[in-house]
Amino acid sequence: MYEWIIIGGGIHGCTIAAHLLKTKKTSIDRVGIIDPNSSPLYEWKSRTNFIGMPYLRSPAVHHLDLNPFSLKAFGKGKGDKRVFFGPYKRPSLNLFNEHSNSIFREIELQKAWIQDIVSGVEKHKGIWAVKTENGKRFVCRNLVVATGANQKFSYPEWGRELAQQYPERAGHIFEKEKPVMKPPFLVVGGGISAAHLVIKLSKEYPGEVIQIARHQNRIHHFDSDPGWLGPKYMSSFEKINAYEQRREIITKVRNKGSVPHELANRISRLQKEGQCSFYQDEVESWEGNSSAIELTLKHTRQKTKAKTVLFATGFSSTIMEVEWLQSLIYHQKLSCAQCGFPIVNQDLSWCPHLFVAGPLAELEMGPTARNISGARKAAERIAGF
Ligand SMILES: Cc1cc2nc3c(=O)[nH]c(=O)nc-3n(C[C@H](O)[C@H](O)[C@H](O)COP(=O)(O)OP(=O)(O)OC[C@H]3O[C@@H](n4cnc5c(N)ncnc54)[C@H](O)[C@@H]3O)c2cc1C
Repeated sequence: MYEWIIIGGGIHGCTIAAHLLKTKKTSIDRVGIIDPNSSPLYEWKSRTNFIGMPYLRSPAVHHLDLNPFSLKAFGKGKGDKRVFFGPYKRPSLNLFNEHSNSIFREIELQKAWIQDIVSGVEKHKGIWAVKTENGKRFVCRNLVVATGANQKFSYPEWGRELAQQYPERAGHIFEKEKPVMKPPFLVVGGGISAAHLVIKLSKEYPGEVIQIARHQNRIHHFDSDPGWLGPKYMSSFEKINAYEQRREIITKVRNKGSVPHELANRISRLQKEGQCSFYQDEVESWEGNSSAIELTLKHTRQKTKAKTVLFATGFSSTIMEVEWLQSLIYHQKLSCAQCGFPIVNQDLSWCPHLFVAGPLAELEMGPTARNISGARKAAERIAGF
């Protein structure tokens, strides 16, 4: 029997594992991490790699290790000034990934890795039984659900239909199965992932990238005000008993679809040089054939053609629509708010010995729950329970 099983080996699951192990709350032979991928942070690495993100948006103190200055020290050891960017010392993606890998080597994380997909969770006499798609059954005392956004991606209505009909021509940038990458490209979305992707594609295919978004670039350093990282805003958030109100606040204060200043500048430079173009508009209709998609824009009535349509339109709010999770909620009578998300205790326990992290901990942790800072805080709370 495992002492801890963590479902999901992304940033959240691995940060929690690192904290449990480094605080000597448990040992590696008593931990299991179940994830469909072959290695830790697989989704993180493939998503950030696909959009060509050179630097993280978050500062250097946000990483997977215990000591907040661990990544800075690791970067200094490289003797290369380019590993951090700007006044907030945002780490390069390479540095961040290398640092994470070094932690995994240190705690021998791979020993806990179980490559599989959880398909059911039950409780018998105080012990959790976790069933997987490969027909295995693992038992544990403590269970952590750190499955991120559960592969639920957001599409505009017309986009989902297009991607279903022409999967080789159109798709969400975070889906495992991507369309065939052929210019000209149409990137749909106005947030940071769209911005990175437009910059990357404009370098590779100058003049063959069109971006469509409902708004001009909204400029914010971070995806929520840093006041949400501490008591400045969190102490009043924690006093709110109505979870609908907590949800409203989270939605309102997240700088959704925003980009930091330097990315907005780079994009406007690329536009001036004719390497990419931008339409503030929406798609009204589309027509497809085996070689291209023709789209008609709603406001200008302009027509535009693309061989590849990429949706950089973020994650959907249907994260809780997962069969095994719904069955767990039903059988263990777990509390959920109107929005369907878990109502958990301060230590992120949903019921005794069952913990959540990431989006599932949002109503307790506030707007930073999904981020790396949220992973650190979740790990501190769970390891300290
Ligand atoms: C492009 C991009 C850039 C970002 N940049 C930053 C940044 O700079 N700073 C910051 O703070 N945040 C950033 N974020 C936000 C956030 O930190 C990341 O999304 C992070 O990867 C979330 O980690 P996670 O562990 O919650 O989810 P994931 O990385 O999605 O990991 C969840 C894991 O759970 C697995 N899983 C799901 N269901 C099951 C199941 N049934 N059984 C077993 N395993 C399962 C998945 O396969 C996955 O491997 C960024 C997000 C994106 C998309």
